[in-house]
Amino acid sequence: MLRIPCPHCGERDYTEFRYAGDATKRRPVHGTEDVRAWYEHVFLFTNPKGPHREYWQHVQGCRQWLVLERDTATNTVGRSWLARTGAPS
Ligand SMILES: [Zn+2]
Repeated sequence: MLRIPCPHCGERDYTEFRYAGDATKRRPVHGTEDVRAWYEHVFLFTNPKGPHREYWQHVQGCRQWLVLERDTATNTVGRSWLARTGAPS
């Protein structure tokens, strides 16, 4: 079972969270009309194997957005931090 460390609430079951996508993708600049850039951002995905950073929202807790380091091959969880604060050093 996957347990996710929420920076506010502590370690919780993954069912309290909602997966929200790849945290390594950069969103196109707000207001851009480059359709190709938006198409690639919204519809094209990689399927990484190994260490990865993902966005999750604690929907049944503090409702904060966080970045979680997770190994997609072993499903082991690493560090997490609030998405709005950036990665800890
Ligand atoms: Zn929380």
